[in-house]
Amino acid sequence: MTENWELTTAMNNGHKPIGVLAIQGDFAMHAKMLARIGAPYALVKHASGLAEVGGLIMPGGESTTMLKFFENEGMGEAIKEFVTAGKPVFGTCAGAILLAKEVLNPAQERLGLLDISIERNAYGRQVDSSVRQGECPELSSRPLEMVFIRAPIIRRVGEGVHVLGRCDGLPVLVEQRNVLAATFHPELTEDESVHRYFVKKLIH
Ligand code: GLN
Repeated sequence: MTENWELTTAMNNGHKPIGVLAIQGDFAMHAKMLARIGAPYALVKHASGLAEVGGLIMPGGESTTMLKFFENEGMGEAIKEFVTAGKPVFGTCAGAILLAKEVLNPAQERLGLLDISIERNAYGRQVDSSVRQGECPELSSRPLEMVFIRAPIIRRVGEGVHVLGRCDGLPVLVEQRNVLAATFHPELTEDESVHRYFVKKLIH
């Protein structure tokens, strides 16, 4: 409770709310998690909405569907400007794919804001989704339950990219300056540590 109060106070103290990209996918669960930890949020449906928020969560869903929307709306360019301005962005699953510098299986358009190569649907068709145990030692001393849904695998991590979390030996939570990305869905479990970590990037 104390920690929630601190977050809310800090966020209301001149900080803009956290945006949740609400075009497609499981944005509602991210919003629910932010509400739970006491972080004000706003759904972002159009590029103009980025002016109203201090950070952005790009949820899981279908990266190809989101890309079509990006083209029509100028959203891709707006997110690039947002990141270049130093604002924190957190992509989960499809969101991580959109942020990557290189996308495999197959290659597709991307924003190129995070120096990783990421392979879509990399666990194979037979593993549609799974819950695994992983570790994010800088975020939590306990192992984290990680939900993977038609998940990608990060195949290459660039020099400036810090690996914050691993599962089965693979990097699953990575960070490059103000860009954070997870191949799993932290919004679908009880553990709040990944969202808390992201929110703190806005406060400090
Ligand atoms: N397979 C999806 C894609 O390639 C990502 C799945 C997800 O976000 N849960 O976009």
